[in-house]
Amino acid sequence: MNSNEIKALDKGKIAGTYARYDMVAETGKGARCTDKDGKEYIDFTAGIGVNSLGFCDDGWIQAVTAQLNKLQHVSNLFYTEPQAEVAKILTERTGMAKVFFGNSGAEANEAAIKTARKYGTTKKGSSAGKIITLENSFHGRTMAAITATGQEHYHKYFTPFLEGFDYCPVNDAGKLEQLANNDTCAIMMELIQGEGGVLNLDEGFVKTAEEICRSKNILLIVDEVQTGIGRSGTLFAYEQFGIEPDIITFAKGIGGGLPIGGTLFSEKCCDILEAGDHGTTYGGNPVACAGALEVLRRMDENFLQEVREKGRYLKERLLRLPQVTEVSGMGLMLGIALKEREAADVVAKALKEGLMILTAKDRVRLLPPLTITYDELDEGIQRLKKALI
Ligand SMILES: *Cc1c(COP(=O)(O)O)cnc(C)c1O
Repeated sequence: MNSNEIKALDKGKIAGTYARYDMVAETGKGARCTDKDGKEYIDFTAGIGVNSLGFCDDGWIQAVTAQLNKLQHVSNLFYTEPQAEVAKILTERTGMAKVFFGNSGAEANEAAIKTARKYGTTKKGSSAGKIITLENSFHGRTMAAITATGQEHYHKYFTPFLEGFDYCPVNDAGKLEQLANNDTCAIMMELIQGEGGVLNLDEGFVKTAEEICRSKNILLIVDEVQTGIGRSGTLFAYEQFGIEPDIITFAKGIGGGLPIGGTLFSEKCCDILEAGDHGTTYGGNPVACAGALEVLRRMDENFLQEVREKGRYLKERLLRLPQVTEVSGMGLMLGIALKEREAADVVAKALKEGLMILTAKDRVRLLPPLTITYDELDEGIQRLKKALI
């Protein structure tokens, strides 16, 4: 098929839930992608923060294919070594006690929500199932996750919603204090609201949330599905906010391009879910775990320091581009506020210039692969400049 035939078939036969960009991706290496017509692009999207090591990283391919040659799946009725190893690294590097593996961010948050509700209703009383989330948040597309998501846009059409969610305005510690009561089992937040426009929460607000959780026996759930696994310049963004969450959810960047996510539990809540309470057929699949293992092994302190340096370099140069009024975010998760251009138009124009970028609300969002080189960054910035003029 040529690119037009693929687009026509896709439009006719795939449920129209995505407004796709006008490009059929075919091959990729590092931060470069080639489309079906042979045109080359610099990739500042990493598959929405998923391809941490870029396209088709050699070490990652080797790790994944080695596992494929051994065994692709056995289900969670049996033990496998890659799953145990990923759990070991994640718990050692976070100080968390245990992990549950799923396949996506929404599932990771579902496990967090179920854990929080069981914790509340068994430890605090049958009415303690209420969860506070933030306005402008994004937690995924399943029914519980869209209910947790504090944006009306995601709530259209799908009534009735789950009960027991309260929404607090971003950075409003007074309101959070007021909402958190005996019926609250958890406060859940992204530390940088990704889909909400790459907006960093105030450190003071996050610390206050942690204090409220400690004083009222409430679990602090941090949704690191987008910010986690090196994206913000540390393994998880919470490290830079000086807090210790009770539950951390992750997905996107961990598999390096394979579907895996999960939920980390602190000592306090690591045995809340028991045999039969929760599960998933694919979660922690050995092939996905082999990919995750390679991603985590590569992501040492040097690697993370480079992410921080590249992030500073990119931010500094973005601030010199026309139309750019502000750059938010941390590490290699950046949001660009524009003077008078529409973010969606800039994305389309950038694609014509050979650059893949994203939007987040009214901002342009950049999530380049964490292994991107300075040459690739420079080339991407030049192409972005052309799209902004
Ligand atoms: C992407 C995202 C999710 C949902 O992840 P899926 O894998 O699409 O289910 C949840 N939370 C945050 C913060 C995200 O960025």
